[in-house]
Amino acid sequence: MTLGTPARCHFVPPYLMRRLGRLADAEVDDELRTARARADHLAVRATAIAGPSWTVHTAEQTRQLPGRPVRAAGEPVSGDEAVDEAATGISGSLALFEEVYARSSYDGQGAPVSLTVHYGRDYPNAFWDGTQLVFGDGDREVFDRFTRSVDVLAHELTHAVTERTAGLVYADQPGALNESLSDVFASCLKQRLLGQEAADGDWLIGAEIFLPGVQARGLRDLRAPGTAYDDPRLGTDPQPGHLDDYVSGPEDNGGVHINSGIPNRAFHLAAVGIGGTSWDGAGRIWYDALVGGDVGPDTDFTGFAAATVVAAGPHTETVTRAWADVGVLLDDSQAASGGAAGPAPSHVGGRTVRVQRSGGFAGRVSEASVDLDEVALRPDGELADLPRLVARVRQQGDLAAGKPANPMPDMFLYDLDLCGSRARLPEHQLSDDLRRIVDLVLRSGQ
Ligand SMILES: [Zn+2]
Repeated sequence: MTLGTPARCHFVPPYLMRRLGRLADAEVDDELRTARARADHLAVRATAIAGPSWTVHTAEQTRQLPGRPVRAAGEPVSGDEAVDEAATGISGSLALFEEVYARSSYDGQGAPVSLTVHYGRDYPNAFWDGTQLVFGDGDREVFDRFTRSVDVLAHELTHAVTERTAGLVYADQPGALNESLSDVFASCLKQRLLGQEAADGDWLIGAEIFLPGVQARGLRDLRAPGTAYDDPRLGTDPQPGHLDDYVSGPEDNGGVHINSGIPNRAFHLAAVGIGGTSWDGAGRIWYDALVGGDVGPDTDFTGFAAATVVAAGPHTETVTRAWADVGVLLDDSQAASGGAAGPAPSHVGGRTVRVQRSGGFAGRVSEASVDLDEVALRPDGELADLPRLVARVRQQGDLAAGKPANPMPDMFLYDLDLCGSRARLPEHQLSDDLRRIVDLVLRSGQ
């Protein structure tokens, strides 16, 4: 009945999948023990730190925000793992900005931070919605809950900092810089909590968010973009580490989670080249560039690189070389390919409903399509509601009503084709009917 499958999921026979899982389990057990010891260490470090106030809520598997408050700054552990992980991550992240960069909360004025965990059902994402941080529990297929990695907390808080400072637009090169800055300060936070120098960090984002058996060291690797995972279900890490390999296209707001690999690697090279700790060395330079006034909403890789060189002081040569090593040359006139319009999504017409979901913290692409004529042959099937929903959406003009808004960091982006009516909408602009449609169609492709 369904024609499409998630674009980066390869079909693997169940027996092979089980075998893959068993082989990996022994290694995973070891890794889990190490991760648990590390998590204990992080919790002890974080509770010793005070800062702006924060509150962690639970959405109790609904999509109601912010949900019920469970734990605030200064309160003891709650016993809910997701809540307590979020508490550890947010207090450590706020302390990084306050103690190292003298920035009080994301707005620089001590704004209280609201967080929500247990968002939605099987929700494989984390995002900043402009007012608060939101974390799902994973999809029970590939992803565990997103709070398991402290760096995910810092990544999301940094989106709020970027929004209130340079305001980098979340698309193309400015969007990839926005993403990269979140990964940069996420790595600084993780290494600071672990007391590591730049040369000793693992430079991985989301190392703990995968379920056992998934062949992934993390979601992204700042040291070696493109090598973080290679898994039958996930596909291969698509990040480039050099401007020559820049990926243009409409998905993921112009590949913001893909092309961030380029500035990510520049930061790693600068941090290791400068030596000492990442947050004190290169991190301070990147932070000064972010808030210094030279970086604005439309700044591209070259513009941002120039701002870091201005802020580099005695490390000018190291920082210049780091950018040159990833192909971003300061004397080159906008050689970058950011902003280029990619090919339009393939068009379907007639009686086919196609949904593509891109973006999200993981930057993955899922796609599925359903032929309504085939649905009509099975009036009792799971998709029985789909024709009625599609007809209503087209009649009420839900697609046309969705004016393109500023994309939100890490929110899913949907490309929809409902029997020839097409639209690209961020998640927060889906009507209830459209949300039901994308859920039905994507689930049918799993
Ligand atoms: Zn992000």
